[in-house]
Amino acid sequence: MFKRVLIANRGEIALRIIRACHELGIEAVCVYSSADKGGPWLEQADRAICIGPGPSKESYLKIERIIAAAEVSHAEAIHPGYGFLSENAHFAEVCRASGFEFIGPSPEAMNALGDKVNCKRLARKTGTPVFPGTEDAIEDIEEAVKVAAEIQYPVIVKARAGGGGRGMRIARDEAELRTGIEAARQEAAAAFGDGGVYVEKFLENARHFEVQTIGDKHGHAVHLYERDCSSQRRHQKLIEEAPAPGVDPKKRDRVCESAATLIREAKYSGAATVEFLMDRHQNFYMLEVNTRVQVEHPVTEMITGVDIVKTGIRVAAGEELPFTQKDIHINGHAIEVRINAEDPDRGFMPQAGLIETYAAPGGPGVRIDSHARAGYRIPPNYDSMIGKLIVHAPDRATCIERLKGALREFKIGPVKTTIPLHLKLLDHPDFRAGSHDIHYVERWLKEIAVTAKA
Ligand code: ADP
Repeated sequence: MFKRVLIANRGEIALRIIRACHELGIEAVCVYSSADKGGPWLEQADRAICIGPGPSKESYLKIERIIAAAEVSHAEAIHPGYGFLSENAHFAEVCRASGFEFIGPSPEAMNALGDKVNCKRLARKTGTPVFPGTEDAIEDIEEAVKVAAEIQYPVIVKARAGGGGRGMRIARDEAELRTGIEAARQEAAAAFGDGGVYVEKFLENARHFEVQTIGDKHGHAVHLYERDCSSQRRHQKLIEEAPAPGVDPKKRDRVCESAATLIREAKYSGAATVEFLMDRHQNFYMLEVNTRVQVEHPVTEMITGVDIVKTGIRVAAGEELPFTQKDIHINGHAIEVRINAEDPDRGFMPQAGLIETYAAPGGPGVRIDSHARAGYRIPPNYDSMIGKLIVHAPDRATCIERLKGALREFKIGPVKTTIPLHLKLLDHPDFRAGSHDIHYVERWLKEIAVTAKA
């Protein structure tokens, strides 16, 4: 096992990784930007090294500074967390070339699954269900027009290098497809330096269903069942739960197993999430694979009892997975809400500034992963998530009630947060029925905006 790990991240995920390292007897070294000086998680680190000013481009994304920090601190491995450099195959490569273990997949596995066209090709081979559409990136628009006519409109044009919802265009007829391909190509070339786009069937009113998987360097890979993350605003997840409500157990097993097969075939080591959209008839279509630990990993930890972060570190150190598929069972239900410092009443405006009041909830089944506390000043430079509240209960209905109680106990001020919004969403009839799709939050926000005006 490693003696010392460098964490190339900040905030709640840095703290989560520090905790996992300490449980494994590993020293944790954090890097931080000057905007994060005095950040509460740094107190828990065995060492903290400033790597530059606030803007992430000059600190958390500066590969050479992170490598230098790993060298001076004699770390053996680097944990990228999520966001920042976590899905950057070049960074994984540089870590390896500099003699540090990258806690995550090999650059080869990351490339095989991170590129959407490659990933879809491998998925077709391994029997993971994918959207019908073009086999490869589009060379010839006429070919795309032919495929779209076969799979029928609406279709969606997507960037092979895509991320963050960029480089996507929905097309409802041939004219829209032709302009959509051009627009998506330009946007993708500007955003990712790769103008490759492909076309697939567009699914209306889908649910977001994602499978947590984990592999080791010895050819083993298992799934840890799924999460439903259909509560989204602008493609950002707000609420995540495990297991997905109302899914046929046989269909669930089949799709979860196909996800495990996909990452096994990619010779993948570490945690990966295979994302799907699910239609009303519970047909699944793969969206993409996220080659890192995800924000919402705790709900899976709560229902399976597997510590995903610790297991990720152990497999990076060369250990075999300490469990097989047979050992993984679903126990109860878990829901996570993201506590963002944003004002939902004012267009979700980010709220930087001092947290004066911070009173956390407690009780059975209540978990908080957060770096925030009273006296913490939220810097304006990074995303607005200041923590996650995760609740575990024997069943979904109890879980919702327990979560509402915890949200009512949670007092943060004067900065505005998404706590009041979550209380309303948890009472939304579609959410309660488990029949919500990925658009219900935005539909509901529009409705209440109209009612407020009337
Ligand atoms: P990104 O990597 O940019 O996040 P994704 O492939 O994950 O791109 O897609 C982002 C979002 O776009 C999905 O969560 C879904 O809401 C929507 N989307 C993508 N592909 C489709 C599709 N074929 N049908 C319907 N919605 C889609």
